[in-house]
Amino acid sequence: MKLFADTAFVDNQWKNDVVVSISDGYITSVEVGTKEPLAGVEKVQGILVPGVPNLHSHAFQRAFAGLAEMRQNGIAQDNFWSWRSTMYEFAKRLTPDQVGIIAEQLYIEMLKSGYTSVAEFHYLHHTQKGKPYKNVTIMSDQVVSAAKNTGISITHLPVLYCYGGFGQRKPSSEQMRFASDVDSYDKIIGNLIDKYKHDESVNIGCALHSLRAIDNGLLKNCIELTNQYSKELPIHIHIAEQEKEVSDCLISSGHRPVEWLFERASIDQRWTLIHATHISDEELTLIADSQCVVGLCPSTEANLGDGIFPAAEFIELGGSFGIGSDSQITINPFDELRMLEYGQRLKHRKRGMVASYRESSIGESLVTRALKGGAQALGIAAGSIEEGMKADLLVLDRETPNLAEKPLAQLFDCLIFAGSHGAVKDVMTGGEWRIRDGRHPNEDNVLKNFKRIMKGLNTVC
Ligand SMILES: [Zn+2]
Repeated sequence: MKLFADTAFVDNQWKNDVVVSISDGYITSVEVGTKEPLAGVEKVQGILVPGVPNLHSHAFQRAFAGLAEMRQNGIAQDNFWSWRSTMYEFAKRLTPDQVGIIAEQLYIEMLKSGYTSVAEFHYLHHTQKGKPYKNVTIMSDQVVSAAKNTGISITHLPVLYCYGGFGQRKPSSEQMRFASDVDSYDKIIGNLIDKYKHDESVNIGCALHSLRAIDNGLLKNCIELTNQYSKELPIHIHIAEQEKEVSDCLISSGHRPVEWLFERASIDQRWTLIHATHISDEELTLIADSQCVVGLCPSTEANLGDGIFPAAEFIELGGSFGIGSDSQITINPFDELRMLEYGQRLKHRKRGMVASYRESSIGESLVTRALKGGAQALGIAAGSIEEGMKADLLVLDRETPNLAEKPLAQLFDCLIFAGSHGAVKDVMTGGEWRIRDGRHPNEDNVLKNFKRIMKGLNTVC
């Protein structure tokens, strides 16, 4: 397959008259300056740019989004922990079928907004009574099938979650659906790796829920276990999201969370630290120097009252980040990037924060960093239009008011700061068109199923 674009963002630069050749889902060549599209070459109807990797998602929370905004009786101050209790109540009721339907709905929405791949941080493993299903990967299989049915490529990250809190606290009854020991976790991850090892659209990685949910021994066991499968597997962990998490870690171990992790594991490019909101200057330098990725989820972090990651300082240190939709209250990569930049502007009372002084376009800085960091976090060759990368592509509609007649150099600025709604026209993943003219071929059926299950679920909160 060959695509011709009048304008494309090739290897992080705007180019005209571009032919992209694709074979077996990957870009095999990119030619610039081709005047007329040849016979058999498809001309795209807009601007060709790379699709955005979503590095942090809890699919089931799509059905819960918006249902935790009512003030609860008897709770003086709603916060992350009270939100978490409501979320646990919701999660307690979900069946494998429901999880699959929710994930399909979510992944279609992701594709339509410009995400072409997703890292699914998956901890809902067991039955409603907290026992393993006979098929221990049934929940993971539902989520992976949803990705395959919709066409989004997935890095599936089954989560190791052993304890209910620091100090090896026993999981609560609500947490039993998530809880595994290393042996039962090995069964889940081994089974998934075996099942999907020949599938180009599925990548399996590993996740540790948080330092609250593991201890030193489990951290070592889990890294050893994943290394037996491959030393390249991505490893993700929630870290330092809440101030209470930092103070509990200090009480329990005498160390701050990031400091604790770096002392016990070799953190490198395969690692993604989700949130890392509350960190010291020393911890920020440790993270930037390690070349791991920080997974930022700005709309969720705002919604949960987490705090603001020191992104401006991190950029100055040469750190890498990607973005995630996390609790699914926002499913749009460009809205997340706007929120990220605005958080920094509000904090510092300055403009143009998530870019180095050498970069002129703030939008381009945000997008290129999210593409690179996101692809690294998912462990896939993607995020750029160049030879050897996955053919995960977006066609942006140049006719939308926010993009019409705008200078190319400011296109990502307009997409992020003037609004992207309606701008993503066509979406390709792995060399196949999934969205055409803003529509997914299965969206009506999937929405019908989603509405059917929501009737029973929206009464829980
Ligand atoms: Zn999360």
